[in-house]
Amino acid sequence: MEILKKIYSLYSTRGHKCDGCNLGEDCYSDGYRCIRSGLFFHKECATSNQDVCNAYHPQHMLKIKVVSNFEDVHGECKICRGKLPKMYYYCSICDFAIDLICARKEVVKNIDFPNTHKHRLSLVPKMIMFSCHICQLVDDRFPYACDICGLNFHKDCAESTPELSYSCHPKHPLKRLTRVPSYTNGKCCLCKSKLHILFYHCSICNFSVDVECAKNPPPLTLDHPKAHEHQLTLLPQRIFVLMLVEWIMIQILIYVFSAISWSIGVV
Ligand SMILES: [Zn+2]
Ligand SMILES: [Zn+2]
Ligand SMILES: [Zn+2]
Ligand SMILES: [Zn+2]
Ligand SMILES: [Zn+2]
Ligand SMILES: [Zn+2]
Ligand SMILES: [Zn+2]
Repeated sequence: MEILKKIYSLYSTRGHKCDGCNLGEDCYSDGYRCIRSGLFFHKECATSNQDVCNAYHPQHMLKIKVVSNFEDVHGECKICRGKLPKMYYYCSICDFAIDLICARKEVVKNIDFPNTHKHRLSLVPKMIMFSCHICQLVDDRFPYACDICGLNFHKDCAESTPELSYSCHPKHPLKRLTRVPSYTNGKCCLCKSKLHILFYHCSICNFSVDVECAKNPPPLTLDHPKAHEHQLTLLPQRIFVLMLVEWIMIQILIYVFSAISWSIGVV
C-alpha cells in the first residue's frame, strides 16, 4: 500500500476494472481510486504483500512493483504470458515478473499420479526449453519432469485423459486434441478464450472446451446453445413469465395513474 500511495493519490471507493490485476469487468468491489489519474485498484490488490516467495522463482524473493500512469508497462507475466498491469511482482536480478493473480495461485509442485505417465512428475522452476512428451510441442518454460525417464510434460498434458465425458456436452465424449482443427474458430465454446496447447473437442458438433472449462464446467446459460438441450426450453419460459408479470404491473400502474389524474381533473 505504501509504494502504491507514493505514486498515486488514492481515496477509498468502489469500482469496476482494476488496474492492479486487470480483472473485474462486470462487478463492483471495494478499492481505491487515484484522484489524478482515475486508475482504480481493488482493496485486495492495493494491500498486496510487499514481497512474496513464488514456487516458479524460488531462488529470489519477488518485490512488488508499481508503475506510474505516465509510464508504459513492458513485458509479460512469465507464468500466464498475459500483459502486465500497473502492479506486479518482480525480481530485478533476473528480470522476472509475474502478475498479482498468478502470484496468488497455489502452485502444484508435484503431480504424484499423472494420468499420462507412470511416475511422479515435479515442477522444474526454470525458463528452459523442453519438448512435451504428450503434445510434442516445444515450449520454453516450467516443464513437469520425470527424473526416472528424463521426460518433460506440460502440466495440463500430464493431467489429461485421451477422452472426457463432459456434463455440458453429454451427447458425445470429447477427445483430447493438441492441434486446433482448421474448421473451428479456435476458441473455447463456453468462455470464448483462445484454445491453447491442449483442449477437448467433439468433431461431430464442432464443440471445443479449454482445460479450465473442462475442469470447472460453468453454470449453463442461454449463451451456450450447444451446451445442453434442456436449459434452452426452460429458461425462455421463465423469462417470458417474468416479462408478462412486468407488463401486467405496468398496465395496472398506468390505469391507476390515469384514474387518479382523471379524478383530480374532475374535482
Ligand atoms: Zn485487482
Ligand atoms: Zn500471470
Ligand atoms: Zn531472480
Ligand atoms: Zn504438452
Ligand atoms: Zn517416468
Ligand atoms: Zn473455456
Ligand atoms: Zn458432440
